[in-house]
Amino acid sequence: RLLTPNIEMAVSRTMDDIEGAYSLVIMTHTKLIAARDPNGFRPLCIGELPDGSGWAFASESCALDAVGAKFVRDVKPGEIVIADHNGLRSIEDHCGTAPHTMCVFEYIYFARPDSIIEGTCVHEARLQAGRFLAQEHPVEADVVIGAPDSGLDAALGYAQESGIPYGIGFIKNKYVGRTFIQGSQAQRESSVRIKLNAISSTVKGKRVVLVDDSIVRGTTSARTIRLLREAGAAEVHYRISAPPFAHPCYFGTDIPDEKDLIATGHTVEEINKLVGSDTLGYLSIEHVQQLAIHSKCGFCTGCFTGKYPVAPPTETMDIVYDKPLSQSNSNKKL
Ligand code: SF4
Repeated sequence: RLLTPNIEMAVSRTMDDIEGAYSLVIMTHTKLIAARDPNGFRPLCIGELPDGSGWAFASESCALDAVGAKFVRDVKPGEIVIADHNGLRSIEDHCGTAPHTMCVFEYIYFARPDSIIEGTCVHEARLQAGRFLAQEHPVEADVVIGAPDSGLDAALGYAQESGIPYGIGFIKNKYVGRTFIQGSQAQRESSVRIKLNAISSTVKGKRVVLVDDSIVRGTTSARTIRLLREAGAAEVHYRISAPPFAHPCYFGTDIPDEKDLIATGHTVEEINKLVGSDTLGYLSIEHVQQLAIHSKCGFCTGCFTGKYPVAPPTETMDIVYDKPLSQSNSNKKL
């Protein structure tokens, strides 16, 4: 057993042993410690409390705004930041030991639009995704609508680029959770049914461009398109502000098995038929890597390409968690 002089050194030694995605904030009775993995998969930022009264760490800058803290900067990939009575200091031993490959899905879906991550406002990145989509997949239509909530910004970008008017096509029930992370198929289908309602005055008799952030299993997409047709839409042109989601994520995103992903084993034309749209267009990999217009980092695009910045685990997580702690690799130096 190797003792460390303080908790930040223990965090640093633990980071020697861990691969993959993590953004941590650890509190002791005298310190607040933030650590971000060397690839910087997940965001983490530093804020200063009003009147210099202290420090705050958050995954997204919108959380700093909520407590009146001023955004200072992102925690660097691999950096350990310690806030204590002496102020703020860093350990950078792990910085630069891996390429910076932030999860591009943070910009597409996870993060709140009012957050700024790696210098780019998430709302601006989603607008840009919509502009690129309009360039890649133009169509003659009467109105552009977004699937709530994460498709709304991209829909606005599509409308701006194409010149087709933007409309509000759906009202969302705010009290139902995200469907793709709900357990059973029955649960997902019933929550889709009560989650959205179409606004017929926006879509009736119109050629509609529906912009969404992703198609996972296809359940939600098929239901959403059916809602539009039931509300009288003449045509539904489905545009996705990300490439086809065809591979699993090993870095913290709880997505289904590959066999349950609609883009695995189906062509775009087949998916178009399965979800019931008139046409379907996805954003290209080239453009998804350019949508964070002010960010200088690289991106993980593993769930689209199957190429991961860190090698996927060779054993399932069940097996790892079933091991007694004494057999765990991460225990050996502590
Ligand atoms: S595999 Fe996809 S969801 Fe997972 S970290 Fe990479 S880009 Fe993000």
